[in-house]
Amino acid sequence: METNLRKNFLNALHGKPVERVPALSVTQTGTWKLMDMTGASWPDAHSDPEKMAALALAGHEIAGLEAVRYPYCLTVLAEALGCEVRMGTKSIQPSVLSHPFSKGPEGLKVPEALLEKGRIPVVLKATEILKARTGGEVPLIAGMEGPLTVFSHLAEIKSCLIWMIKKPDYVAQFMETCTEVCIEYANALLDHGADALCMPDGGIVASGMMPPSVLEDSVKPFYKEFCKNLKGPKILHICGEVGGSLKTLSECGFDAISIEEKVSIKAAKASIGDRARLIGNISPSGTLLFGTPEHVKAEAKQCLSDGVDILAPGCGIAPMTPLANMRAIVEARDEWYEEKGKRVV
Ligand SMILES: [Zn+2]
Repeated sequence: METNLRKNFLNALHGKPVERVPALSVTQTGTWKLMDMTGASWPDAHSDPEKMAALALAGHEIAGLEAVRYPYCLTVLAEALGCEVRMGTKSIQPSVLSHPFSKGPEGLKVPEALLEKGRIPVVLKATEILKARTGGEVPLIAGMEGPLTVFSHLAEIKSCLIWMIKKPDYVAQFMETCTEVCIEYANALLDHGADALCMPDGGIVASGMMPPSVLEDSVKPFYKEFCKNLKGPKILHICGEVGGSLKTLSECGFDAISIEEKVSIKAAKASIGDRARLIGNISPSGTLLFGTPEHVKAEAKQCLSDGVDILAPGCGIAPMTPLANMRAIVEARDEWYEEKGKRVV
């Protein structure tokens, strides 16, 4: 019987039995090779829904990943809220150029008709195209900025860090509005057909400059609010050496947490317990970009043996990553089950 990848993925996210541990990416999947094969390249694929969908679909149809993951940047909400965005190149992701609230939260509010702003309609349209093309068989994972990332784009990271110490009322105001924006956008993505959201939101946490008390007092309540108000599954992706924050982050209500290879699967599982599923953590630069398929497979199999719930790269796939290395992720998972079958016999 052919596995319904969508169902298998949702079972994994909800901690139910799976046919096989899903092998996919919850972070960006656009590579040069896939761009060349589909004719859907960055930067066009950030603003054209057909190209956005075509490149995302290639991650599944050509690279074999068991999900479709889009878009390819973390600037959609920042742009919708008034930040100027540079769209980047075939290898460089879009980036935020201006920070309209670097002096404080005065005048900040959820825009009227948020869903019509900037490139939000593009991502919603791409969701519809992908839903129609996958027919509910393959999970659609929509990436989006989390409230902390939106805050750091609106105000600039330096101001965020200063206010976290000196002006907690500013932080609360920003986080409240940014969380509201994230909830409205996330639910729209789910309404249009996304099966889960992945929110990479760890820039400040991973910087090591944010005191743990800020995470507990000023971030956690808003993550909880976000999770409570979502109509579907949500994944938190968090970069860097964040082992010390994982317990707190796992108490917010995310269905799963995606981690980089800097945190070991075993240590992360011990911190998270059964509060959330764990996703990761093949090294995207060390192994996927510069290694061989054999390196990828060895690391992937170790993740599976350590008990990861969903096998995935530890962060966004680099654009120059070889196709054979992307394909090795699913191949490794299949080989691991074959080898395990032999071990059991
Ligand atoms: Zn990351």
